[in-house]
Amino acid sequence: MTGPIADEGAPIVVVGGGLAAGTAVTTLREQGYAGPLVVLAAERELPYERPPLSKGYLMGKAPAEKALVHDAAWYAEHDVEVRTGTRVTAIDPAGHTVTVDGRALSYAKALLATGAEPRRLALADDAGVPLTYLRTLADATALKDQLRPGRRIGVVGGGWIGLEVAAAAREAGSEVVVLEMAAQPLLGVLGEEVGRIFADLHRGRGVDLRTGVSIGTIRAGASGGALIGLSDGASIEVDHLVVGVGVVPVTDLAEAAGLVVDNGIRTDARLRTSAPDLYAAGDVANADHPVLGRPVRTEHWDTAIQHGRVAAANLLGGDAVADALPYFFTDQYDLGMEYVGSPGPAGFDRVEITGDVAALRFRATWLRREGSEGRERVVAAMHVNDWDAIDEIRSTVGTLR
Ligand code: FAD
Repeated sequence: MTGPIADEGAPIVVVGGGLAAGTAVTTLREQGYAGPLVVLAAERELPYERPPLSKGYLMGKAPAEKALVHDAAWYAEHDVEVRTGTRVTAIDPAGHTVTVDGRALSYAKALLATGAEPRRLALADDAGVPLTYLRTLADATALKDQLRPGRRIGVVGGGWIGLEVAAAAREAGSEVVVLEMAAQPLLGVLGEEVGRIFADLHRGRGVDLRTGVSIGTIRAGASGGALIGLSDGASIEVDHLVVGVGVVPVTDLAEAAGLVVDNGIRTDARLRTSAPDLYAAGDVANADHPVLGRPVRTEHWDTAIQHGRVAAANLLGGDAVADALPYFFTDQYDLGMEYVGSPGPAGFDRVEITGDVAALRFRATWLRREGSEGRERVVAAMHVNDWDAIDEIRSTVGTLR
């Protein structure tokens, strides 16, 4: 088979400047790659981690620099050219080039780590009200100013981002209302029983959590905020709105380049896309998962790290496989949690909770019935504030009982 010929003197190019990109370049240098290495990053910042944006940084407990993968000196010392504020506008897999500032840049191999971006809520956008979609450091910096005593914060969506923002806002003394369409927050991920624990946690901290509600209208309020009309007839006025209704993978470049895209850029377990010498990693990659036996796209900090490492190894001609089980964590008030696994489209049949829920120290195990012999498979497990539990929990996921 004759494929496009790569210019071996050309750099490895990483498109995107998040954690997957930062981890990939770190691994490339750690594994001895001494050739030219370029990161093209649309944001103005050096690659950074996002979890602090809804936790320590948002609460003013940690400076922005702590979120950086490396400081500028590291990239200089390791001869990594990071072009921040630089958006790639096209990829030509046949010609082995990416387009930046209207000019083609050749690559020997390239990694697409373009991440995800917030799903927009047209009702809120069209209303022209004070609004944050929390994704970038700039978003977090703007939102931080809003979180102060007496300020009324409205959060649309009771998912991870919405709940973490609600916790940060309450700790800053703001009044918080969370609007969630489902019967419990996090219902889709955790199910009814564990979702209720999170609901109780937030209500116990003074959050006005309204479940089973949808938004009918959003209008500019008289005092400069937002006036929200709910499906149940209620109306709420807030000073600032935060919308956390999920993210979508940033696949525009890949689609235009003709790569296979389906809920993210499709890759095999080695993170190879459908085009030669082009890999994808992190939130944007929908990768075959050899353990789970299906394609999996996560929006997790740990996946960005694992994928960054695997992609780097394979960019160097290795044979690494992205087989880590999905891992996620959250911090809300004094609840710290780690979760491993992925029930996937088949879901789970029941959840087992052990420990002391009231004291916020417990474990939960999600189980799915399998076969006709009444056996159950552990499809996910988590602990709350049980910090020695993670290895044990991880080892149970996938086992049959
Ligand atoms: P991203 O971080 O999205 O980075 C992609 C980068 O590529 C972006 O900077 C983007 O601007 C850039 N880019 C896109 N297109 C182009 C282009 N054409 N040219 C150049 N650059 C481009 N996960 C957890 O597991 N636990 C948590 O507690 C947690 N908290 C979070 C809190 C917040 C507020 C957010 C937003 C996310 C959180 N996450 C958490 C998710 C985690 O941060 C993501 O999974 C992770 O950031 C994914 O990294 P990534 O490198 O794949 O993508």
